Amino acid sequence: MSKNVRVRFAPSPTGPLHIGGVRTALFNYLFAKKHGGDFVLRIEDTDQNRYVEGAEDYIVESLNWCNIPFDEGPGKNEKFGPYRQSERKHLYKQYADQLIAEGKAYYAFDTSEQLDTHRKGHEAEGKTFIYNWHNREKGRLVNSLVLTKEETQAKIDAGEDYVVRFKSPQDKTLALKDLIRGDMSIDTNVLDDKILFKSDGMPTYHLANIVDDHLMEITHVIRGEEWLPSLALHQLLYDAFGWEAPEFAHLPLILKPTGKGKLSKRDGDKMGFPVFPLEYSSPDGSISRGYKEDGYFPEAVVNFLAFLGWNPGTEQEIFSLEQLVADFDLARVNKAGARFDPDKTKWFNHHYMQQQLDLDLATEFKAKNILLKDIDVNYIALVVGLIKERATFVSDFWELSHFFFVSPTDYDEKASKKALKDDTADILNKVIELVNNTEDFTVENLQTNIKGWITTNEIGFGKVMMPLRLALVGALQGPDVFDIMFMIGKAETVKRIEALVETKK
Ligand code: GLU
Repeated sequence: MSKNVRVRFAPSPTGPLHIGGVRTALFNYLFAKKHGGDFVLRIEDTDQNRYVEGAEDYIVESLNWCNIPFDEGPGKNEKFGPYRQSERKHLYKQYADQLIAEGKAYYAFDTSEQLDTHRKGHEAEGKTFIYNWHNREKGRLVNSLVLTKEETQAKIDAGEDYVVRFKSPQDKTLALKDLIRGDMSIDTNVLDDKILFKSDGMPTYHLANIVDDHLMEITHVIRGEEWLPSLALHQLLYDAFGWEAPEFAHLPLILKPTGKGKLSKRDGDKMGFPVFPLEYSSPDGSISRGYKEDGYFPEAVVNFLAFLGWNPGTEQEIFSLEQLVADFDLARVNKAGARFDPDKTKWFNHHYMQQQLDLDLATEFKAKNILLKDIDVNYIALVVGLIKERATFVSDFWELSHFFFVSPTDYDEKASKKALKDDTADILNKVIELVNNTEDFTVENLQTNIKGWITTNEIGFGKVMMPLRLALVGALQGPDVFDIMFMIGKAETVKRIEALVETKK
């Protein structure tokens, strides 16, 4: 690629960023980094009615949490700034004016009531009303194509509301190119004359988007499939301005885990998984779950998002961000929708859990559990090392490890039935003796002494190990019994075995 690659993520701050948006940001990031280019964040906030306070901060925090920070954007490396469209307002009018002067756009004064009447009239005849070549000059619509120059100017001077519409060409076949979908062609006669600018001084998404991509020297537009229908207009706008268009890549939809349609927040609520990267409290007070708060590692989120639409063409599933940057290729992004699989997300999290430092996990575990307040974090880290293999989230830790911190208060009924026999008390008394006699209290010595005794006396492992485990854990679960004994220490081990013997008396 000869030109310096510049891509942008251009969200509208209308609420929390859906993970589909994070996937778009990620693919932009990967593409930029793969080609040594720049990843730009542009905030598309021209629609003030839909603006939500805090949404921009949420977007930035989400990107940072995923470790895919932007190179340029609001408040950062502002070479092509400002990066908020609301702060670029003054820029757009001249471009709308240019298209009008060149006869490529026109003023339209139709009120919403008038347009509504046209729409209803068409509907009554089973037709759809489209504002374009077939009616724009027929006289029923009020625009500068039918009014004289003076009439048009008089309306503007009188402060009448207007919009600037793009004059879509008639009878042309437009060739479009998409890096994922290949070549497409479209008959321009089906296009409507989209609004580019309004008399309140604000551009619409289409104009602002094209002007900014041009001014910010964007080379590749990578965005969701929902923008594919806008591609024709965007290409026509580039042509109208005489600008070289960027290359386009429209990412596949993210589909519900089952059934038809796009993944929605409701699917998440119904099936118990988040669809937002971070927890979000909306101004109306409702709270949406986030991957971060649910205990996912950012590496896991990035890894599963990468596989929503992309695949490396091999069996490999585990990819660090660096590996993704190295291997990412738009040619390997699918056209077909990518099905979201919440279980796979957990599978990735389990994997990345094993990669974390025990001390880091222990610190988090301790911070989240009041019962661990006074316990040495290094001891907790040793416990974590013994149990994390069975955990998907830090929130699973307590269930898997409570017996390292507190003695059992009761014994699982089923387990008791299975483990406790008539001779159990005698056996456990002998184990107490063996434990007491183990001077150097190590896992190896305990193992040698207890297993040695079992073998010599041909007792059967289950008869000893099951009640022993029940005494230590309160159930027939947990990691190696000798590890548990070593960790809780001699006195606590003896105390727990005695407690179980006590119940057998
Ligand atoms: N502001 C648009 C959005 O919210 C950006 C679409 C594009 O990337 O062109 O998705």
